Amino acid sequence: MDRSKVEEILKTLKARGVEHDPGLPPCPLCGAPALRGYDFRAPHRVEHDCECTYREPERYMAEVGRVWRRWHWSRVYRESLPPTYRGYLERPWEGRREVLEAVVGWQREGGVLYLFGPPGTGKTHLAVRAAWGKAQEGRRALFLSEWEFYERARLEAQDPEAPRLLDQVDVLVLDDLGKARLTPFAAEVLFGLVEAAHRKSLDLLLTSNYPPEEAARRLGENAEALLSRVGRAVEVRGPDRRRRAG
Ligand SMILES: [Zn+2]
Repeated sequence: MDRSKVEEILKTLKARGVEHDPGLPPCPLCGAPALRGYDFRAPHRVEHDCECTYREPERYMAEVGRVWRRWHWSRVYRESLPPTYRGYLERPWEGRREVLEAVVGWQREGGVLYLFGPPGTGKTHLAVRAAWGKAQEGRRALFLSEWEFYERARLEAQDPEAPRLLDQVDVLVLDDLGKARLTPFAAEVLFGLVEAAHRKSLDLLLTSNYPPEEAARRLGENAEALLSRVGRAVEVRGPDRRRRAG
């Protein structure tokens, strides 16, 4: 774009008397605020109160694309959480070091992690935060209950045109495994999911009240195969009060 054209556009922008939107990320190159009137639903649906987009279009677009992935996937992930779980995003999880280490290992290496333990020990809290870290890096993360997962799988099976969950996520939290009635169809899609994560097609975090052997038993003949594909199973026994006190 030639110089006079750039100056003309900048003049028009200034004349508009633009308002800022503090809810949108600032310019990744210079930190200028975003303008009001955009929703950032796509990388190009934002404008900043600066000249970067004209002066360095390529670098600006590349950086805005990166910011968009982090912003967009954090938001999609947050919206996939039941409202009562959204508070977990602001609250750090406190508990045993070996549990935290397993989660950090999963965040780094991916694959399958299975968190189990009695209700009320904070498994879901921990799982919500573990995948949140990945969403904030711009990975496509989602949180689904076991029931929601089967529901989606059924829709996919009925409609070949429906978008495939496995094509749409990099990271999935499947919460509270073992509650839904396991039909042969459900057993098959659950096994398929764990298998896909085992092949590193996605990173899968499972939570359940049941130890892995017990959860797997519901799969019948596939129980052994499922267990061998669960990378790591860790029992969550709730916060360690002594460590918190000390
Ligand atoms: Zn800028």
